[in-house]
Amino acid sequence: MEAERRCPTCRARVQWQDNPCRPFCSERCQLADLGGWVAEQYRIPGSPLGVDMLDDDESDPA
Ligand SMILES: [Zn+2]
Repeated sequence: MEAERRCPTCRARVQWQDNPCRPFCSERCQLADLGGWVAEQYRIPGSPLGVDMLDDDESDPA
């Protein structure tokens, strides 16, 4: 019995055997996931406080 594998990017069923891109369904999804991951990394040093500032701005209008 084999569990169904799904692509983390597009949720499509993934062909497991002979698939060099697994757990992704294709190289495209593999790169898309990597790209999103890298983007998240870049956002961390950006400033998570931005959300706080927006909140503060709302409670204290100029
Ligand atoms: Zn996919």
